[in-house]
Amino acid sequence: MLYNVAQLMKAPVGTSLEYAIHEEDLQLDEDLKVISPIDGHARIRRTNQGLLVDGWVDLTLELSCTRCLEIFEQPLHVTYMEQFYPTVDIVTGLALPPNEEEDAFPIDDHHLIDLTEAIRQRVLLALPMVTLCREDCAGLCAQCGHDLNLGPCDCKPEVDTRFSVLEKLLQNGSEP
Ligand SMILES: [Zn+2]
Ligand SMILES: [Zn+2]
Repeated sequence: MLYNVAQLMKAPVGTSLEYAIHEEDLQLDEDLKVISPIDGHARIRRTNQGLLVDGWVDLTLELSCTRCLEIFEQPLHVTYMEQFYPTVDIVTGLALPPNEEEDAFPIDDHHLIDLTEAIRQRVLLALPMVTLCREDCAGLCAQCGHDLNLGPCDCKPEVDTRFSVLEKLLQNGSEP
C-alpha cells in the first residue's frame, strides 16, 4: 500500500489527495489470515508537520473460534487516522531530525508512504481477545473434547475438586 507523496509535500497545507485502496493477496501479519482483497479508501492531507492520512478498509479474516476451535470467516470494517512525518526535506533532499511523535509513521527518503503497517495495527486492535464463531458458541466438552454445538456428550458434569475436599473436611469435623 505505497503512495508517492512528493507532489503533496510541495503543496500548501490543507491540500489533499484521495485514493481508492484495492489490494489482492496482501497478508498483513503472520498471525492473521486475510482471505479477501483489501478494499478501502485513503485521504492524504498536507499538514504543517507532514501528512494526516485517514480512511477505512474492508477485509475478511479467517479466524479460529476460541471455544470450539472451528475455523470461521470474520468480515471487518476498520477505520484509521495516522500522521506521517518527512525524513528528508522535500526541497533540499537533506535528512531531517527524527520526529518526536511516538505513533507517527515515516515518509521515506523517496517520498513514499506505506499504509500497510498502520492498517495492520488497526486490524489487530479491532480483533477481540476472544474470537467466537458465534455469540453463543457452546464450545468443547472439557473431558472428551466433543463439540457441544453438535449436541451434548455422555460425560458426567465435572465435580469441583476444591469444593469436595472442603466438604470432606467439614464432615470429619476437623479444621481446614
Ligand atoms: Zn465456536
Ligand atoms: Zn464430554
